[in-house]
Amino acid sequence: MTQTPAVRLRGITKSFGSNLVVEPLDLEIGRNEFFSILGPSGCGKTTLMRMITGFETPSGGSVELDGKTVDRVPTRLRDLNMLFQSYALFPHLSVYENVAFELRVRKTGKAELDRRVREALALVRLEDFAGRKPTELSGGQRQRVALARAVVGRPAVVLLDEPLGALDQKLRKEMQFELKRLQREVGITFIYVTHDQEEALTMSDRIAVMSKGRVLQVASPTEIYDAPNSRFVAGFIGSCNLIEAVVSTENGGRVVTVPGLGPVPARPADEVTTGSPVVVAVRPERMSLSDRPSEGAFAGSVAERVFLGDEWTYHVRVGAGTELTVRVPSGTMSAALATVPDGGQVWVSWPADAGRVLPA
Ligand code: ATP
Repeated sequence: MTQTPAVRLRGITKSFGSNLVVEPLDLEIGRNEFFSILGPSGCGKTTLMRMITGFETPSGGSVELDGKTVDRVPTRLRDLNMLFQSYALFPHLSVYENVAFELRVRKTGKAELDRRVREALALVRLEDFAGRKPTELSGGQRQRVALARAVVGRPAVVLLDEPLGALDQKLRKEMQFELKRLQREVGITFIYVTHDQEEALTMSDRIAVMSKGRVLQVASPTEIYDAPNSRFVAGFIGSCNLIEAVVSTENGGRVVTVPGLGPVPARPADEVTTGSPVVVAVRPERMSLSDRPSEGAFAGSVAERVFLGDEWTYHVRVGAGTELTVRVPSGTMSAALATVPDGGQVWVSWPADAGRVLPA
């Protein structure tokens, strides 16, 4: 990153009493970046976010915004704004006045205020709702008012903590696209906290995956998905077959063997040591299923199959009790495979580059 990052964390850490909830961590978040902090409940996401805002005092390390240390700067003087799931709008004020509130507090001139409020309302496509009260809006519209309010002052950074949590599934999907579009248009750095991996994959430029107070991987959505660096990341993002195996050396080459199944296609990374237990991570859509044998395919039996419209999900038992999940797009389902009953024999294969070897 050649530009000064919008946010830089140096050795930031937080303990509550003897409970270390964020391990010391360095992180840079770029300008105009849509950056997600993703992890299961209780992993420390909110605490990390609150340290950036200044609501929480770090136990160690420091926070820089736009190249300046803000450790002694109170939240209200930091160039950032926040959006939460429980966005409280003022019920007695119109949509317009809700959005204008912060600018009025800052004594922004009348013409400038009007221009900015209308621009913010246009960004969230609520120009025609300026005169309404929050009670006269749907949940999604209220959320958009809160969003307009968060960006109207054009802070350098907006932090969003599970802002879509209260919305139903369909509205969440719509809002994900809206948020991403809006972030691109306004060019503000968004730091988005979520436990929803699909949400993070859809919207982010980069994602930090957290577990138990540690940031395990920081990368783009495609990299996180295709090249997870740990068992946790592979299992947390999307669905993934995690097959227990061991790495050994044979004829000078390294072989990944699954007990009860034999050698499997995978490329052991250099850092994986011979003899150590590993998992081979293979995405279900990278596996192929056939009703007949082929070179290198593993024979198995259909434990279950589920029709999901655009695809079939098969659970196939191979070797000594390894169960694999295989996705077969409906359009590629052969008539012969479709007639294999539960318990019937099938063959599973995958290319070596689909098998990522990770420390167990
Ligand atoms: P969620 O998705 O459920 O909000 P999270 O990943 O945001 O979870 P945090 O809210 O950061 O997690 O909490 C991390 C850990 O720190 C939890 O174990 C929590 O109980 C603990 N914790 C958070 N705030 C405090 C506090 N003020 N005092 C003591 N412990 C706290």
